[in-house]
Parts: sequence; C-alpha cells; structure tokens
Amino acid sequence: MTGDKLQINLKAARTHAGLSLAQTSELTGVSKAMLGQIERGESSPTLATLWKIAKGFHLPLTAFLEDMVLTAGSFTPAPARADRTDPEVGMHTVFAFDPRFGSETFIMTLPPGHSHETPSHDSGVVEDVFVIRGEMEVLTDGTWTVLHSGDGLRFAADQPHGYRNRTGEVAQFHNTIHYPRRTVEQDGD
Ligand code: MN
Repeated sequence: MTGDKLQINLKAARTHAGLSLAQTSELTGVSKAMLGQIERGESSPTLATLWKIAKGFHLPLTAFLEDMVLTAGSFTPAPARADRTDPEVGMHTVFAFDPRFGSETFIMTLPPGHSHETPSHDSGVVEDVFVIRGEMEVLTDGTWTVLHSGDGLRFAADQPHGYRNRTGEVAQFHNTIHYPRRTVEQDGD
C-alpha cells in the first residue's frame, strides 16, 4: 500500500460519453464543483463518491482508475496496483474489470474500529465478500453478519450495505463485484 492520492479518469469517461459537468452531476448525484475538483486533480474522491460516479456511468469501478484505458466503449484491464489508501479504508485492485466475466476484485482493508456504509450499486449488481484476515461484519438487508477469516458472503448490492470492524486488529477481505451483462454491454438503460 502506498499513500498515493487516487486519481481517476473522470474526464476521459465524461468526454467519451459526450457529457457536460452539469449532466454528469445529474447522473451521479455528485456536485459539479466536486466533479471539477476531481478532474483537475485538486480533490481525491472518497470511495463512496467513486462508487456514485461508477453507478452514474453504468461502469465498473476499475473503469475509472488511472491505469485503465477507455476504448470504443470498453476498457483494457491494467496490471494490479495499489489504487487507494486513506486513513480509513485501504483498497487495492486484484483483478480489474474483465468483460468476459463481468467482474472486478479488490482487497479491502478495514482498520480497527472502522465502519463503512455505502450507497447501493447499479441494479442487479452482486457482491462477494471473502475474509482473508481478522474478523469483520457485513451489513445487508439491515442486518450485520459476523464473518471470520475464511468465511464468505454473497449478497445483492443494489441496496445500501456496509462493512465494519469492531475488533482491535486489522481486517482484510476480497471484494468481488459482479455486474449483470446489460450494465456493461449497453450505454445506460
Ligand atoms: Mn459495495
């Protein structure tokens, strides 16, 4: 993990889609000012903001990470690299989005005591959480489920969900995001 700020290819994706900042703001629910700061590299988006942007564009998260290249409506996977570290959640791409399988996989690191709730993903998105270190809890359908190292949970992620670590030790999990085919093969609905 490095302390690098996250830079995303927002401008490339926005230009590719032919959208203004105002239209992008409407699609994503992220303010025009914040989108402009992100494009200029003045602001590093939070994970929640990043997911809102991905959802608005109907694209996988790794479509926006700096090593990804947008080509003719699809993207070329880049090698795994450290994408984000902040004082709260660590995130590292294990497998960038691959259109053959419709999924992308990250390693997420939750510091002791950290709780992270996220907005819903696009319709039909399913997540796998597979704990590789420590003990953590996953929120789905309003219920927190305790998972230990080696445990896995698959859930519908097109509703609010969350992750928390109530122990005194770091917890880590593999997080695979599965996208339904229509999300990645069509532009919008
Ligand atoms: Mn999620």
